[in-house]
Amino acid sequence: MPAVTHPNWLQLPRIGPPIPQAIDRPVERLVTAPSLLEGAGFPVRRPFPSREIGFRNADPFLLLDHLGAVEYAPGEAKGAPWHPHRGFETVTYIIDGVMQHRDSQGGGGLITNGDTQWMTAGSGILHDELPTEELVRTGGLFHGIQLWVNLPRRLKWTPPRYQSLASHHVTLVSSEHGDALLRIIAGELDGHKGPGVTWTPVTVVHATLNPGSLLQVPWPQHFNTLIYVLSGAGTVSSAGVLMHEGQGAQMGFGDIITIAASTERTGPSDTMEVLLLGGRPIGEPIASYGPFVMNTHAEIVQAFNDYQEGRMGNIPAQEFHPGG
Ligand code: MN
Repeated sequence: MPAVTHPNWLQLPRIGPPIPQAIDRPVERLVTAPSLLEGAGFPVRRPFPSREIGFRNADPFLLLDHLGAVEYAPGEAKGAPWHPHRGFETVTYIIDGVMQHRDSQGGGGLITNGDTQWMTAGSGILHDELPTEELVRTGGLFHGIQLWVNLPRRLKWTPPRYQSLASHHVTLVSSEHGDALLRIIAGELDGHKGPGVTWTPVTVVHATLNPGSLLQVPWPQHFNTLIYVLSGAGTVSSAGVLMHEGQGAQMGFGDIITIAASTERTGPSDTMEVLLLGGRPIGEPIASYGPFVMNTHAEIVQAFNDYQEGRMGNIPAQEFHPGG
């Protein structure tokens, strides 16, 4: 798994032991992420929004798509061709493989092997998110996530902005006993800060747990908290709720998160890979339709009009192929 790692986790800064009397967050809602097709027809697993975990449970997060892991055959890889966004942020974290990105402001680049692109769509932007020509031609492994983070009303009209968070800028720490690796992409964990800058308090962490390891991390009480298992299996919370690849949980109230990796091999590798998501709820009314997330239905109608009138930008001329 090429997401950034470290040759000796024991040399990394460690998370401290939990404070005495720390309240362990229980699993409040558990979901096996349904599979669906996105964009031009690539399969994703979406733990939320779902019947089990709605906008209110996930606030300030709106959506999580687990892309792969998939071993594409030649000619099979697909992406999401030109489309708009307004009113929130898209966070694309690629663990294996490459995604190519272009936008209506002339920006673009590759997101690969542990990189994160944090895009504030704000007032509106058009972009496309595609596998590289090489990946389409040769096929290969592809694995990543896309997370949508909501913006408060006052920031829905902020100009679009990118943060390219290269894999080598991700903050690496290890668990108390050095047997789990934590990649802090954004926000803060036990005083360690990730490179991503967020508009409201948000923490995004990708954890790798060795078989049999125990991970306990302090977590702000006021955060809504979601856990998603990218691969492998283990138990979550002191109640030992079994979770495996493709399952998500909304956690209840507490100060710490507890995860214990299975001692048996349960996935493509020996490790348990987990996404830890936390954020202060922003309590916004949500009007959501397709690529737009606003506060009211009228603002959604306006977004469609603005998109059709070209007020969110236009597809660059060299990318426009009439008739296909
Ligand atoms: Mn998009």
